[in-house]
Order: sequence, then structure tokens, then C-alpha cells
Amino acid sequence: MIRQLLATSLLGMLATTGAAAQTTYVKAGRMIDVVDGRLRTHQVIVIDGDRIDRVGAGIAIPAGANVIDLGDATVLPGLIDMHVHLTGDASAQGYENLAASVPRNALFGAANARRTLNAGFTTVRNVGAGGYADVALRDAIDNGDVIGPRMRVSGPALGITGGHCDNNLLPPEYDASSDGVADGPWEIRKKIRQNDKYGADLTKFCATGGVLSKGDSVGGQQYTLEEMATIVTEAHQHGERVAAHAHGSQGIKAAIQAGVDSVEHASLIDDDGIRMARDAGTFLVMDIYNDTYILEMGEAAGFLPESLEKERMIGQAQRNNFRKAHEAGVRMAFGSDAGVYPHGDNGKQFAYMVQYGMTPMEAIQAATVDAAELLGWPGDVGAIEPGAYADLIAVRGNPLEDIHELEDVQFVMKGGEVIKH
Ligand SMILES: [Zn+2]
Repeated sequence: MIRQLLATSLLGMLATTGAAAQTTYVKAGRMIDVVDGRLRTHQVIVIDGDRIDRVGAGIAIPAGANVIDLGDATVLPGLIDMHVHLTGDASAQGYENLAASVPRNALFGAANARRTLNAGFTTVRNVGAGGYADVALRDAIDNGDVIGPRMRVSGPALGITGGHCDNNLLPPEYDASSDGVADGPWEIRKKIRQNDKYGADLTKFCATGGVLSKGDSVGGQQYTLEEMATIVTEAHQHGERVAAHAHGSQGIKAAIQAGVDSVEHASLIDDDGIRMARDAGTFLVMDIYNDTYILEMGEAAGFLPESLEKERMIGQAQRNNFRKAHEAGVRMAFGSDAGVYPHGDNGKQFAYMVQYGMTPMEAIQAATVDAAELLGWPGDVGAIEPGAYADLIAVRGNPLEDIHELEDVQFVMKGGEVIKH
């Protein structure tokens, strides 16, 4: 009796932490095997607690078992977006952005996390947040306080004084600068140690100017090669991966030479840069959907006029370079820069990746198995295989025939828990 009571209360505890304590059988008429790059039919996915136990055709389902029959929908691993800003509100750009406090940003993050998960993205890499709002959001999600994807977070992005990762909107008497500003090797090392202390999983830094920052040239290199090499050495010493924001060709090449794990945006990468990335195995995370949004909606959203001008300069070049880099065999992971455009529309990028040269399977792999590798989380996320988290999504049709299917995700399961059906 006592044992039974203990078991019951234990089940209750497991239920409140979101872990399903029972075995669930998910029937999938179609399933995308991202590891082998194949579409499989009539699969059964056996889920034990929050992980996948077995997958295959012809697995017997015992009578009375807990079954989720997804009919002839197509089941995929939960998607991964490697470049998001969950704590950023897409409708408040430029000067409007200044009005949001760190706590307010964390609460934007709670709403955006739910939207992102409902769109089928069960894992994200959050690259840059002030005040460790991203750490708080990740921990709140892990604790079951807030509904959202699994998160890997960078904390404040490192950048030079006056660079893309600084706050350059106010005159000197306000003495405003971003949390991640660090110049020179020792300031850099200290900043990475601080980020590590307060819970960052990875390091993000700005290797060149950007589109949405004031007063810098979008392609201009920021940080010297020496500084970038220090960032990589220090971060790797802490077991962290390094993501470098870079648009201009010189900054991209310096970042690759310094040994970063991924180059974000990579808009103006040249042939040398493509060769260097391929040879070093550096991932490119190219956000080729949001240009469309910025040019259509940017003015209303409060983007600075100079930002719109920069976007017009690099948007199409980035898409052309995406095609070239992919054709050359550079590794690519899906990253959309959500936060620049509204969260939850992440899936819209797939169609652009296919339009600019990927097969639908390659685009899906970039957002699953390949992203998991860059994240340093393979085996846990990004594939439907024994031992991985039971993070599954389903769409009505076949995304290998129509990639737009991924813009309308019908079913989401995270860690064995049904989020959307
Ligand atoms: Zn970004």
C-alpha cells in the first residue's frame, strides 16, 4: 500500500515536470529518416518517458497501449533553428527597442518561445541576449514554468566598442553600451568567463558590422584576427562552441581562420572564404528568408532607414552566395534570425533554401541532424532514433514534394509530451 502510494505520488511528480511516465506508440504513415535521407512508410515510434526507445515498421502494439495514430501525415524530428533571438520583439526595432527592460525582454521571450515550439521548432540556439534573459528563459523552460523549445544560449554577444554588438543609439552622456562589449584579449577572456559563470552554453561574437546597428558599415571587419583567435581559444577551453556574426568577406575569412564553429549570415562570402569554410569544416548559418520580411515590413516595424539601405545592398547577394557555398560542399545549418521577423514564421525559410539550391531533404537535414552536430547535441536532438528525445512533429502532406508543408506544422511533441495536436 505504502509502495503504491509512493509510486502514485512519483507519477504525479513526473507528470508535473512534463515527463510522460508511460510508453506511447506513435503510428506514422510516413516518416522522414534524416540520418539515411529516406522517406519511410508505416513506422511505429515507441516512446518511453521523454525518449525514443525503438523505431521501425512491424513493431507490434500491445492491446490497450497508449497510441497516437497520425494517419498518413509525415512525421519528422522536431526542427532546430540555430539562430534566433527569442527575447527580441520583432515589432520594436531601432529606437523603440531601447524602451524594453531586461525583465520585459525575458517575458517577450516566454511568448516567443511558445510560438516557436508551436511552429515545430523543438530546439533553438539563442545567439545574443542582454542581462542573461536567455539563460533565465532556458532555465524556466527546463523547469516547466514556461512552454518552449530546448534552448542553447550565448548570453550577451561579444563585440568591439561601437560595433554591431554594441548599443550605438544614444549620445555619450547616456554612457550606454551593450553587456557584451569587450576590447582586447584580456577583456575578451574576462567576458567569456563571466558569461560562462552566469550560464551561457556557447559564445557569440560580432566579427563584422551588421544590418540593424547604427553607424557601422555592414561588411567592415570588427575585431582583429588576434582578438578572434582569443575568443575561440577561451570559449573552446570552456567547452563552448563559437558562432561569429559576419557579413563582409574579410571578417568572414578572419573568423574561419580563427577557428570558429559557425559563421552566421555569411552574406558577402567570396570564393576564398567558401574554400576556407569547406576545408575547415566550418558551418555557415545563412538567414535567407528574413530579407523579404525586412524589405516589405521594415519601415512599419521601425527599422532605421540606414538598415533598410544595407539590407537592399546585401540581401540578394547573400542568397546567391548561399547557392554557391552549398554547391561547393560547405556544411550548412538552418538559422533564420527570428526576432528580426516575427517568431513562429521560422519555417518560411525552408522554401528559400530549396529555391537557392538545396533539395528538400538537404534543407530538412540542415534543420535537424546537421544542426544537432553544430549544436554539439547529436544523439539527443535532430533525429528519430533510439535514445534521442521524443521530439516529433508532423505535417499533413509530404514536405519532400512540397517544402511549404513545413510552414504549417500540425502536430508537435517535445520530450514525449504532446504540445499541439
Ligand atoms: Zn541575429
